[in-house]
Amino acid sequence: MKNASTSVAITLKQVQKTFSDGTLALKPLDLHIEKGEILVLLGPSGCGKTTTLRLIAGLEFCDQGGQILFGERDVTNVAIEQRRVGMVFQSYALFPNMNVSENIAYGLRVRGESKELKEKKVQEMLELFDLEPYAHRGIDQLSGGQRQRVALARAIITEPEVLLLDEPLSALDALLKKRLRTDINALLKRLGITAVYVTHDQEEAMAMGDRIAILDRGEIAQIGTAEEVYLSPKSEFVANFIGQMNHFDGLLNGQALSFRSNFIPLPETLYSTYKEGERIRCMTRPEDVRLTSFEDATLKGAVSHSVFLGDRTRVLVSVEGVKELVHVDCFERKRYSKGDRVGLVIPPLCLVLLPNLGSEEVV
Ligand code: ATP
Repeated sequence: MKNASTSVAITLKQVQKTFSDGTLALKPLDLHIEKGEILVLLGPSGCGKTTTLRLIAGLEFCDQGGQILFGERDVTNVAIEQRRVGMVFQSYALFPNMNVSENIAYGLRVRGESKELKEKKVQEMLELFDLEPYAHRGIDQLSGGQRQRVALARAIITEPEVLLLDEPLSALDALLKKRLRTDINALLKRLGITAVYVTHDQEEAMAMGDRIAILDRGEIAQIGTAEEVYLSPKSEFVANFIGQMNHFDGLLNGQALSFRSNFIPLPETLYSTYKEGERIRCMTRPEDVRLTSFEDATLKGAVSHSVFLGDRTRVLVSVEGVKELVHVDCFERKRYSKGDRVGLVIPPLCLVLLPNLGSEEVV
């Protein structure tokens, strides 16, 4: 396989999509995906993930004024057959009347390649995807994971310039999903394939993507590595969509956030961008909050609920002046019961601050 040399970068310039019924599915979008990069499109249902993928594939065309480039080649008005894309869907879309080898060979057959080339390439694919023992089996005699591997093999045998995957694992069980996403990632990296991968599963997005683009109502809310979007979300939407967040609403009071009689100390890097007395929302992840003794803490609360999750215990704490319960992940084997009085410690560097644009009372 020589995919590394056939793969290209993808550039979208001001790509917008309005469907014939007037639905604006995608607002003008600028996006550059490097050659060999895996970009994940993540977002809630209806945010425009599949539309973006279909535009890149050539299954849909963007509104006037938008431009899609594969490398230097302008493919904006080029039909799917001339775009050299490989596609993998959730439904596999395999041909039930063909066996595994025939399914894999399909793209080469359509191109009219020689029997020798087809056999050689199919053999390469069977080996690459551990499908040799199933070469002559019918599709209905395969497991979900094997079918998905056939679908991948069929998509990359033609050495596409870009590979587009739309929720390829969503029909599989959780364990198989985890194994396959690691396998697919390793394979794409080894072959250097430029890939766009659609999912609404945040863990899959983090495991799979070099970068993640989080879409919200037809727009990119944030794009970055898994670390960037998880640790430094730029909006409430991103913070809540990727992982879970605790919220503390209050006012900037010196070098701390204050609400009711509570104070959360803030690092200078965060508070210096806000004005004294400004309403701010302070957020932190459950795994960053630590429980401590009630007496020693400045932030105090009572356990409302606790759930043992195997690798950790999720403790919900009710804190004076906090509207919602605070979620805390405890990794030490300690039991908490309803009503236990606890203190909370939040390391200042684990905080994310955003202006509080809501109208809630904070003091
Ligand atoms: P999901 O995760 O549910 O698949 P998605 O993020 O892939 O969602 P899209 O399928 O891209 O979302 O749809 C984006 C928006 O465009 C939605 O509001 C959808 O209803 C609308 N839409 C999609 N296809 C069409 C169409 N052919 N005609 C009109 N509207 C459409």
